[in-house]
Amino acid sequence: MSSPDASLPKKYRTILLFGAPGSGKGTQGKILGAIPNLFHFACGDAFRNLRIEDPMGRLFIEYSSKGQLVPDEPTIGLWANNIKASTVKGEFNAAHDTLVLDGIPRNVSQAKMLSATIDVKAVFFLSCSDQTKMIERLQRRALRENRLDDANLEIIKKRLETYERETEPVLEFYGPSLVRTIDATQPPLEVLRQILDVIAKIQG
Ligand code: ADP
Repeated sequence: MSSPDASLPKKYRTILLFGAPGSGKGTQGKILGAIPNLFHFACGDAFRNLRIEDPMGRLFIEYSSKGQLVPDEPTIGLWANNIKASTVKGEFNAAHDTLVLDGIPRNVSQAKMLSATIDVKAVFFLSCSDQTKMIERLQRRALRENRLDDANLEIIKKRLETYERETEPVLEFYGPSLVRTIDATQPPLEVLRQILDVIAKIQG
């Protein structure tokens, strides 16, 4: 983030929503994003909003259809472009808003690439030890949101493997002082209440 405006912070004040596919990050992120001064960015949504003719859109289909992560450079580029565009449109104001990142960083290399740009205040780890429950959630979502990567059990299993192998180590990268573990099997309202408790404390 390079800006001539000295009143702007050097790094974006950020909280991360973290968890396996189906843990409820998106549900919580959408609610949080409706709160003034919180700006929700869901990386998967940004990819899905690309047109299929767009080379990045094609890259997304190529990797997500196999349950794999899109390579880091284009992913971070997409993130930066989206944040820039939201700033220009006046939707995000780095001086007053906290970024709520959902689905990024998704591996340690992305976390390192973002470290010069984001100041992470908390990582909300929506933890779900019941894999069957998560798979059920994903399969319900496949119908509701027309998501192809949620429809196929083989791809779901690949995504869960990718999560364990590549994404889970991000928790260690940020460390226990930042990570707040929340039981994702609780009702969404209770998960939200616990997230808001922490946000209220760190904002205050
Ligand atoms: P979920 O968390 O349910 O798997 P997302 O909507 O967050 O779903 O992501 C869907 C797909 O988009 C991922 O499987 C991956 O292919 C791609 N994707 C999203 N975010 C990232 C990221 N930060 N890095 C690489 N690939 C990503």
